[in-house]
Amino acid sequence: MRDSLSSASITDGLRTRFIGQRVIYYPRLASTMTAAKQEAQRGATEGTVVIADEQTAGRGRMKRSWLSPKGNIALSIILYPTITSLPYLIMLASLAVADAIEAVTGLKTQLKWPNDVLINGRKVGGILIEGEVRGRKLDYAIIGIGVNTNLNPSHFAELLPVATSLGDELGGEISRLAIIQRLLVKVERLYLALPSAETIYGPWRDRLVTLGRQVEVSWGRTRYQGIAESVALDGSLLLRHPDGSLSRVVAGDVSLRG
Ligand code: ATP
Repeated sequence: MRDSLSSASITDGLRTRFIGQRVIYYPRLASTMTAAKQEAQRGATEGTVVIADEQTAGRGRMKRSWLSPKGNIALSIILYPTITSLPYLIMLASLAVADAIEAVTGLKTQLKWPNDVLINGRKVGGILIEGEVRGRKLDYAIIGIGVNTNLNPSHFAELLPVATSLGDELGGEISRLAIIQRLLVKVERLYLALPSAETIYGPWRDRLVTLGRQVEVSWGRTRYQGIAESVALDGSLLLRHPDGSLSRVVAGDVSLRG
């Protein structure tokens, strides 16, 4: 039977100090990112989580849409990190999603640079980081997380070739609560370890299936190919071109195809 989400069901017994100790729950919402942004602008306490059972206008990177029908996980976490910690947020969130899925379901995950969590090469989760920078100061940052828990990819033609869900992989309904709670605990643990390169950057780099592979990068209408050689400490990808030169690719601008 499908679990029902509520603020109380998430905070009950949640073993964190501040992440998820305040949860704003909506049965249906355009986007948890937009709602979290409004909350952050009003000074919501750090660690506040905005979560929706269903998003009607969920978004991914570069104004792409992220489908999150009922039964999926769609949540945003409000943080007030230093600006130097900003590049680590995508790394720690990716690690936390991968850990929560593996711990609760036993399924094996992979990370695809810069923001995808995969199972058997198909996308099961996505991370989005948004923030507001004023001068040289970060006003707030929001980690957005989408996990396909009970989404049925065959109901969405555009997702069928690229997406999977935990329910699809395991052949049954998945309880979202256990995954959400584990995820929040892990995000907090890693966030409190910032800016530790050893606990965040290293493990993230080591889990990227992208590295060592031939990839195609598209940037607007420009496309180029190369070997994804490494990632820098700021999260950018180092791409080795066929002529031997190396360039640095920043996540904000590009799409990657394997
Ligand atoms: P890609 O990894 O395909 O290059 P991206 O990383 O640039 O995409 P994201 O922000 O990660 O973009 O996700 C948006 C894209 O993911 C959409 O364009 C769509 O193809 C796909 N998508 C949308 N909803 C889902 C979902 N629930 N599960 C898996 N994939 C989805």
